[in-house]
This record gives sequence, C-alpha cells and structure tokens, in this order.
Amino acid sequence: MGAVTLRLSRRAFLHLVGGTALLATACGGTAAVAEKAAEPKAAAGGHDNAETKRLWDSSGGDNLLKGRTFQALFQTLPDRPRAFTLKDTYLRCIDEGTPGGLHMAGSGALYEKAFDDLKGKITGIYTHEGCGAAKLYVESKNIKTDDPDSVADAEAKTLAEKLGVPYLGRIAAKDMSRPPQIHTARAIYYDGTGKFEPTNVPGIPQGFMISRKLISDPAYAKAEVEVAIGIAMGDHGFGSHFTGKSPLYLTLVGGLDRDSIPTKMMADEMLPIASKFHNVELQTMVVAQEAIASAPAVVKPADPSKDKADANHGGGDSHALGGALTPSFGPTLVIRDRIVNLADPGGRRYLRFTIAIEFASHEEAKAVAEDWTPLISYRAARDSYLPVTGGASKDPQKDFEIHMKRYVPAIEDAIGTVLSSKTYADLVSSEGKDAAKREIRDRVQSIVGDAEHVTNIYFTEFVVQ
Ligand SMILES: [Zn+2]
Repeated sequence: MGAVTLRLSRRAFLHLVGGTALLATACGGTAAVAEKAAEPKAAAGGHDNAETKRLWDSSGGDNLLKGRTFQALFQTLPDRPRAFTLKDTYLRCIDEGTPGGLHMAGSGALYEKAFDDLKGKITGIYTHEGCGAAKLYVESKNIKTDDPDSVADAEAKTLAEKLGVPYLGRIAAKDMSRPPQIHTARAIYYDGTGKFEPTNVPGIPQGFMISRKLISDPAYAKAEVEVAIGIAMGDHGFGSHFTGKSPLYLTLVGGLDRDSIPTKMMADEMLPIASKFHNVELQTMVVAQEAIASAPAVVKPADPSKDKADANHGGGDSHALGGALTPSFGPTLVIRDRIVNLADPGGRRYLRFTIAIEFASHEEAKAVAEDWTPLISYRAARDSYLPVTGGASKDPQKDFEIHMKRYVPAIEDAIGTVLSSKTYADLVSSEGKDAAKREIRDRVQSIVGDAEHVTNIYFTEFVVQ
C-alpha cells in the first residue's frame, strides 16, 4: 500500500505555521504536511494490519454509535454533566492520547495568536512524546533536527514563561491513552464550550479535541480540524477503516451556557470541510434544549454509496483512502435548502437538497504573494455571500465573491432544470445520483467558462419527499 498524501490547503498551512516567512515551504508543492504531522515512528504495515483491525474493533468497530446519533447517545448517559467538568486548566495537544484540560495543536506552537488567546485561561502547559504537530512545526520552520519534540518543549517553555505559568513537562508515550504507533480517535470534537472532557464519561467515543472556544481565529480552528482529519485518515490513524457506513465523526459540542460558541455558527464553519469527505459525518452534541433546536443532530451525513464506488475500482484500501483525500480544498459554493418538484407523473414527489460545488484551487497557479480563495457560503434566502471563516477578509476573497455572484442565478437555474427532469427512480440509485451530479457539473462548467474549473459536486442534504 502506498503512502497517503493529504493535501493540506495553503490557508490551513499558513494558519498553522503563521506568516509569510514560510511561503517558500508552503509553495513547495501541495504540502504533504498533515501526513508528516502523524507519528514519527511509522507503523510499517499502515492501517491494514491485524493489530490495527483489533484496535478498530475494540474502539467500537463498524457500528460505533449503534444506529444512534451523538445527540441521542449523549442523552442516554446518566453521568453526562460530568463531561463538562475539566480535570484541570493545563494546556495539552489536540491529540486524543492527551486528555484532560484545554487543547491546542502542539500545545500552541503552531498558532501565532497563542499568547493572546491563552492569557489568563491556562495554568500550565504539557507537551507530549511523538507529537505530530511538533513535527509539522519543525518542517514548516525548516528546522533541521531529529528531535522535533525537543523543539516543541522549548516552544512550550517560552510560551509558559510569557504567560507566567509553569511548563509541566513532556508526557511520555507510555503515559498516553493510545498506543504509541497509532491514533485510535473515532471522532474530532469541535468544542464550543471550552469545558468538554469526553474521557470523564464512559460511553463517549475517543476523539481529537479542538478547543474552538479557546481560539479567536476560526480559520485557525478549522486548520486544526483539517490536520486532525489528515492524521485520522492517514497511515497513523484508522485510515481506510473509515467509510461512508462507518465514518469519522466531526462532532460539534455546544449549548452548555450563554458563553458557548453558537452551534449553528460552528456548523457553518465545519460544513464545507466535512462535505469534502464522503467518510466524514458532521454531527452535533449539545446540552441545552434550545441549542438542540438550533442545529440538527446530523448536519452532514456520510455517504455509504461512495464506498461501493471505491470497491468497484478494485483498488483496495489505498484506493479508497486516496479517493477520500483527493479533494484539494478549493473554493466551494454552497447553495442551501432548495426544493424542486421531480418529474414523476402527478408531480407528487419533491426533492429537498443542499449542494456544494467545489472549484479547483488556484493555489498552485497563483503568485506567492496571493493567499488562496477562502470558502464562501451562499445563502439563497438572504441573497448574499458570507465568508464561512469570519476571519480577516482579503482582496482575493472579494474577487471570488464578485466573480461568482453574477453566475449564481444561472447556476441555480441549471441545477433546478437537471433535478426536476429526474424521477424518484432516477435518483434513488447511486448511479442515478452520480449521473445527475455529472450533468450539473457539466452545466455549471459551461456557465462559468474557462475562469474556474468545477472539480466536485456534493449533495450535503438530499431528501425525497
Ligand atoms: Zn501532539
């Protein structure tokens, strides 16, 4: 099985390593950084070996949630309030092997605003052995070393000193709550409460911890999620065990109190990322009733129909995995919550859908000085574009908005024309759905012309009623 390359978007990369001084590295091809972010000690057999299968089975196997959602699972846990009491307020990595307290990739080494965001919020810093983020950090800074962990320790000491808190040392691999050679996370928790600790309550699956609440720059939080996905899908995670049927869960944790990041906002931040992977499912796990009402339990389902397509190619695991990771994180236009009548006689059936149209990233083609085009979310109801990131807007983004806006009515019309020409029978099979996607892709391509290249069409919601 060949090595897996995750294309980490340039934006994610820049947010992780911070700043323009590293552009030369960032441009040196589609950085395979996230793969390198995994453990330095590679498991020789990747994720195809019997030991990995055993760990997968003991982590919950192919039916982790037993047909329930995270929300439903959470409601059944009598001890669930304890999931929101932190053991301490020490900073640790996002690694699922270092539970407790608060989390930031590489204990903050990758984040240029770490000091500002952590001031007054943490009481100490831990690093850990075999830190993937530390590896990513030394690669990005072009630091020649065989010992990235020591570089991360030094960074953590400096940060701790600035913050006036103790550096608590490096957590040894033997003291981590996962095997040294493999990440056993089944979920990525995007924690909008700042208080979530899954390991406090038996029954909550093990996962990476992204402390969204701690991070003032949502674009950086998203970059951490991309890295976690890359590790989980790569050679040092469960990789091809994640399928449309048994996906990696990206779980939004919110609704604890008035200070929690709104679940709907987190869903908007994560939807474009989750939509790129048929084997990533976006769910919510929220505490308060009113917050439950604000977002569905499943924001974006995984798509088991893609599993079959992968298997048909006969490429085996590496093919399936390559398929999952091919998306290059180009700009994506999302058109939400539309309804069309289907062509069935009598017109009784209709289709409700949300569609994401991905375009080729300009990142390789553009000059070094330009940032990439951020993800843009189109809301038909308000007839406006909003940057999904909420981060600092730059001119390329404006250019993309202006550039795309004039095409949207024609794109919507084309999508409506294609889908309303289909019957229920046309759309229930994965072949029929793929055919519809191809038609939509071709029509959108002819609308936008040579300026943009359509790479993928995703239905993130697809319900026939
Ligand atoms: Zn780490």
